[in-house]
Formats: sequence, C-alpha cells, structure tokens
Amino acid sequence: MNAIGVDVGGTKIAAGVVSPEGDILNEVRYPSAGPQERLLSTIGRAVNEVKNGFEVGGTCLAVPGTVSTAENKIIKAPNLHAIEGVPLKDELEKRTGLSTTVENDANAAAWGEFRFGAGSEATHLIFITLGTGVGGGVVSHGLLLRGAQGAGGEMGHITIQATGPRCGCGNHGCLEALASGTAIARRAREVASEKPDSALGRLAVERTVLGEDVAELAREGDEAARSVLEETGRWLGIGLAGFVNVFNPEVIAIGGGAARAGDLILDAARHEVHLRAMSPGRDLVEIKEASLGAQSGILGAAALARDPSSGEYVLGT
Ligand SMILES: [Zn+2]
Repeated sequence: MNAIGVDVGGTKIAAGVVSPEGDILNEVRYPSAGPQERLLSTIGRAVNEVKNGFEVGGTCLAVPGTVSTAENKIIKAPNLHAIEGVPLKDELEKRTGLSTTVENDANAAAWGEFRFGAGSEATHLIFITLGTGVGGGVVSHGLLLRGAQGAGGEMGHITIQATGPRCGCGNHGCLEALASGTAIARRAREVASEKPDSALGRLAVERTVLGEDVAELAREGDEAARSVLEETGRWLGIGLAGFVNVFNPEVIAIGGGAARAGDLILDAARHEVHLRAMSPGRDLVEIKEASLGAQSGILGAAALARDPSSGEYVLGT
C-alpha cells in the first residue's frame, strides 16, 4: 500500500505519495511560513492535494522538533515554534481523514536511509545530518531507537570538547557546535582572519563566508579552506568513534548540506574513528555519504506511516 510522507521544515512543506518500494509517485511543495492555523491548513492541503486519486494507507509527518510519542505532539520545535504543543495527529486526521503519525525529522530521514538508501543492506545504521544544526537517528537490530519519551537519537548533542563553543542547546562543545554547517562557517571566518592571503581570507574581505563557500574553495585547492573541513572531520570522527563503540553499526550515513563536501570531511572523520574506536567495530563500520539527499524525510516518513507502532522493519511491507 502507498503511504504519504510529509517533510515539515522550517521554510517548506514537502509531501509525497510513496510506493512500498520507495518510489515517489507524486509530490507537492508549499512554503511553511505563517501562524499556527495557516500552517496546519497548509499541511492538510498538501496531503489532500498530493493524494490526488492515489490509494493511500496513511500518512506520517516528519517535523523539526522533539516528538512525544506517547502524546503524539511536539514538545519543542526551535525552528518552527508554530507547531509546538499542537496535537498534530488529531488535527491532520480531522483535515485529511487519513490515519496520521508524527515523527522527528532526523529520525524519519534515518529510517529513509535505512529502508531505501545508504543503509538498505544493513540492519544497524547510524544517520547523521550536518546542516544548520547536527541531527541524527539510530537504527539498531532493524528498530528505530526513540528512547523513553521519544527524545532520543539527538546525536548532535553529545559533548566532544568539554570547554568548546557554546551550543544552541545550552551545553558547551556539542558535536553540533563543532561540526555543523554553522560551525564550519564560524571556523572559516576565524581561519580567514588568521590567513588573509588565502583564497578564504580574500573572500572574507569581500563578503561574509558561508559554509558552502568553504567546500568550494577547498575543492579548488585552497589550503586554508581544506584545513577547516579537515578539522570539522576530526570533530565529527570523535563523535562517530563514540557511536561506533556504543552501537556497533554496519553503516554510518552522513547527510545534510555540509555532507556535500564529501571526502574533504569524511576522510578525516574515518581516520579519527580508526584511531579512537575499538576493534572489531571500527573495522566493520562503513562511513559514507547518505544517498537520498533531501528526499530522505519524505521516504522515511512514508515508510514509518506503514508501521507507526515502532518502526519495526517487517520484510515485504
Ligand atoms: Zn548541544
């Protein structure tokens, strides 16, 4: 049976009808701006519009916040306050008549990579997304780990440098504070002022350096930009080494905008994991780029809609 996955982001809503094999059969997009009532009606309209004659078994919303699985509502959504405290399941079922579940967006993306992407051959997967923040999800023994309250899998908020930069969560030295796209841009601006003669330094005189500039300059061979990405990869690797020791994954899939720097970040991360993680976990794990890009949320949410109870992977569903 087809299902609808909805990726509710801070700036846009993308809804797709997805087949059991992971093909997106129809897709619509809307901006997600606006107060609560307008946002809810936009999500409802997106689901009703994308359904458009397809036979659909249910829908799952992937949302940027902490989802209380018991109450099926969002406890905290720093990038989309309008959905905080809203009983999204009830609201959407009322508007669409479809059975609806709600999941954290990074968990849904992890499930998408597990079912259809970089981890489709694996039973134990870690997914990390390097974007404005750092999110992630854990699939262990084919199950999505959510924790007691649904607040687990916050891979970006493990401490990797006790006295490091302050993180948005209030802690210091989180993986997010050292390896997100935001952290890359911040570090790049520091390195630019230390090395004004580098291409990075010259760009910083013209305008504000962004995370994507760093990858581009690194690819062009600028040593200063390369050093920023290598440093990012080392921080990432310190985090991943811990995940390897705890979860013993077969695959760690890295997604998000900053992951487009590819091996410029990942080679340093792999090296760090090899130095720090224990054998045999470090020898097994494959650290690679996620393969579904921005579609991982829709695909994972749709797959979760088919099995809302626990994300248990049942062959043939
Ligand atoms: Zn944090």
